[in-house]
Amino acid sequence: MAKIKTERRDFVKYSTLGILGLAAASGIALSSSGAIAENRLRPPGAVDEKEFLALCIKCGQCLQVCPYHSIELADFGKGHGVGTPYIDANIRGCYACDAVPCVLACPSGALDHHTEKATDIKMGIAVLESPKTCLAVTRTPVPAGYDEKMKDFIANVTNVNPLEDKILEKFDGYEGKDCTLCADMCPMPNPLSAIAMVKKSSGITRPEIYEGCTGCGVCQEVCPVSEPAIVIKPRLSYEDYYIKGKRS
Ligand code: SF4
Ligand code: SF4
Ligand code: SF4
Repeated sequence: MAKIKTERRDFVKYSTLGILGLAAASGIALSSSGAIAENRLRPPGAVDEKEFLALCIKCGQCLQVCPYHSIELADFGKGHGVGTPYIDANIRGCYACDAVPCVLACPSGALDHHTEKATDIKMGIAVLESPKTCLAVTRTPVPAGYDEKMKDFIANVTNVNPLEDKILEKFDGYEGKDCTLCADMCPMPNPLSAIAMVKKSSGITRPEIYEGCTGCGVCQEVCPVSEPAIVIKPRLSYEDYYIKGKRS
């Protein structure tokens, strides 16, 4: 049985500063009233947030079947949202399985069964939020130890799936090289439809995002900068962000 993970259970529960920090890290915004508004990255197929919260029965079936241990259950929040599944792309993105088993496993309709294959996934959109810290932009080689976070993650999983070992293998050997990790690790069947390293007229190479990006979060997970330079904007599409200029 897959290990059910819950988020950072012990260390910030009763600290105001901790709460603010956790909220920021998890994509939760504090409104002026102090209530917590959810803007979590939900698993593939998640219906609109309000409907999702109404439909999800918090059974954990989606996370039980995820071979990459990408899904967590929220144990932090006020009122709604506790126990619902989400993906923390700082820790583990969704690796866009062919048959999207998390959706198939969902008995409630919270994950829409029309999401049948990887290219149907629409979780959000990737954005190079911090070009100033992107190793490609700053022409900084990938540092030693860049893979420690993923290795630690695997080391703490009780039932490692062979697919996770393959990811780790693919992630190996980048130390000292130009950083292309976000583009190289993109799990889409045609990653060039989602992201590519592009040399600009300035001579700087940087990742560029395209319509095929599903917001799976893998680029954010693998970005070797401590605060990932590339992040996911949950529930926004390529058109929303890059064409209409929508920001939330
Ligand atoms: S598509 Fe696969 S990797 Fe992504 S959340 Fe679902 S089961 Fe996990
Ligand atoms: S660029 Fe690729 S890895 Fe990044 S969110 Fe989009 S689909 Fe996922
Ligand atoms: S993985 Fe991060 S640092 Fe490397 S090129 Fe992509 S955004 Fe830049």
